[in-house]
Amino acid sequence: MAQGIPDEIMMDGALIKDLAEVAKDEALLQGVLMRIQESSNSSELVTYAPFTLFPTPVPKAVFLQALAVQTHYNTLVDKISQDPDFLQEALASTIEVDDFTARLFRIHQQILKEGKAQSIVLGLNRSDYMLDQGEDGSSSLKQIEINTIAASFGGLSSRTPDVHRHVLKVAGKLEESQRILDNNPASGLAGAVAKAWELYGSERAAVMFLVEETQRNIFDQRYIESELWKRNIPTIRKRFDDVIKTGSLDQDKKLFVDGHEVAVVYFRNGYMPQNYISEQTWDARLLMERSLAVKCPDISTHLAGTKKVQQVLARPGVLERFFPDQPQLVEQIRATFAGLYTLDMGPEGDKTVAMALAAPDRFVLKPQREGGGNNIYGSEICQVLQGAKGTTERTAYILMDKIHPAPVQNYLLRRDAPLKISNCLSELGVFGTYVRRGKDTVMNECVGHLLRTKSSEHSDGGVAAGVAVLDNPLLV
Ligand code: ADP
Ligand code: MG
Repeated sequence: MAQGIPDEIMMDGALIKDLAEVAKDEALLQGVLMRIQESSNSSELVTYAPFTLFPTPVPKAVFLQALAVQTHYNTLVDKISQDPDFLQEALASTIEVDDFTARLFRIHQQILKEGKAQSIVLGLNRSDYMLDQGEDGSSSLKQIEINTIAASFGGLSSRTPDVHRHVLKVAGKLEESQRILDNNPASGLAGAVAKAWELYGSERAAVMFLVEETQRNIFDQRYIESELWKRNIPTIRKRFDDVIKTGSLDQDKKLFVDGHEVAVVYFRNGYMPQNYISEQTWDARLLMERSLAVKCPDISTHLAGTKKVQQVLARPGVLERFFPDQPQLVEQIRATFAGLYTLDMGPEGDKTVAMALAAPDRFVLKPQREGGGNNIYGSEICQVLQGAKGTTERTAYILMDKIHPAPVQNYLLRRDAPLKISNCLSELGVFGTYVRRGKDTVMNECVGHLLRTKSSEHSDGGVAAGVAVLDNPLLV
């Protein structure tokens, strides 16, 4: 294992078995937890959230590069959200064929028409990267996507460093254990929510976590709730259904849910079409968007995180629109872009199709979806693009260069899964927070990281989807 855990440990079956037991117990002790699937609406049955036995080597330079660019990504997302013309133009072809994005866009337009009730904006983002391996063995940081809604694992990733430190010590790797970085996104995310709550200016008003029907990953959110309660900020957990049944606006557009005034709506739901089970769910989203509550994210920031916007940003000159006098900053962001290609109707989109059909294994075809498991790879790319021939269907997708990280061997610890060595690929996420009031940026920070690792046999899917597991970088 290159610059990581030596083979004499990796290949010692008895030692690995012992270490895996130590690691699982330590994860439980540290609170790296998830509810067990079958009982996902009760915390009576919990298990450890899946994680790697060992941390994964990550080159220090690219790690620092990812941290350094985060506040610029925050600014970029925030600027896009304030640029209705850009959003309209960027998403025009998508909303013609993609119903979900179209519905979100309609809410965005309605809010623009009515005028935003609240000038305070709260962003909690996670920008995800893979390290593309060059022929010379170098690795370059390439963004996979940016998540502007419901970006998860800031809570649990605050607890995983101590687990890996412990495992490495037990394995006799004291020096390596001291190289595991501290990480506390939970505190940083809560800090930004707290700032927005404070600016809202009512001690009685609560932070509402808008949560899913079944909440397997509840502990990840509880860490942020705990951090808020430590600051004496009340938090409540509500579902769309609660908002449908008990949500209302008063004459000042203050949002009330279940009798609580809501200062901040923190969406941990609402990012997938399946989350909107009825028209009433859409009405509830609109109600929240219209309200005086600070939305994290607001509807335009949600749209700024779409994959279509990501592709448009990679076109020549587009970043310059947002940073006209900051060529170095533009360069810093652009350096993290992978190749992204339009599938809009016209000669440029036709060229993209031809390129994809000629070498489908070089690309990933992505619809406007979040949550893992939606992307299309290999020969299926050809099927989809050939199937869409002669129609506008292809404009629901973007095409992206496939990133090839260097595989690293590790053991993935997951309940009910056999302990075996796997060839693994990792994805580095960086958490960013910002708060703006009107024209004033009150806060803009990078608040931590997340490393997720999956077996290389899976081309898609995150931790919640049961494919990737939590990890820590070991800087090399
Ligand atoms: P989602 O919104 O569903 O998380 P992503 O763009 O993050 O969509 O893609 C999901 C997963 O697919 C990623 O976590 C990564 O494992 C894989 N993936 C996405 N884009 C690429 C790419 N360009 N190269 C290689 N793998 C990719
Ligand atoms: Mg993703």
